[in-house]
Amino acid sequence: MHRLGLRFRLQRRVARRCTADFVLPRYRIAVFVDGCFWHGCPEHCPAEFKGRNALLWQEKIAANRKRDQRNTMEATEAGWTVVRIWECEIRHDTAGAAQRVATVVREQGGSVRSRSAANQSTRTRARIPTLEDGRESRRLSPNDTLSVIIGT
Ligand SMILES: [Zn+2]
Repeated sequence: MHRLGLRFRLQRRVARRCTADFVLPRYRIAVFVDGCFWHGCPEHCPAEFKGRNALLWQEKIAANRKRDQRNTMEATEAGWTVVRIWECEIRHDTAGAAQRVATVVREQGGSVRSRSAANQSTRTRARIPTLEDGRESRRLSPNDTLSVIIGT
């Protein structure tokens, strides 16, 4: 995000009992990053659980999803444009996830510059590095990845 020249803030309350993972105050965009398991990602959360606590898991995740929907609604009502990103999107396609936010910024009439616009070096002008680049990506945990996407 930072690389795209966007200003953001971490962990900001956007509605009552609703804290976004980060927001772009200038464009009133609130971004929520949802963990695949706890928030029921269609790809990474089992549709059915087995074993003794199966029902508990299912109820817990259903409750989380419900809360997510309510948060989206409340943030929207409070005037925020909500973007929800799965943890796996960030892990596998950080640049894509950042682009998704950038697209919403453009829709809100904002402009997104690439790092190159602010960078005088022609070497770094060529491309924006992604998590897929190099060895570094393998060392990152999901939380680190979030830090990378927002450029902290
Ligand atoms: Zn997932």
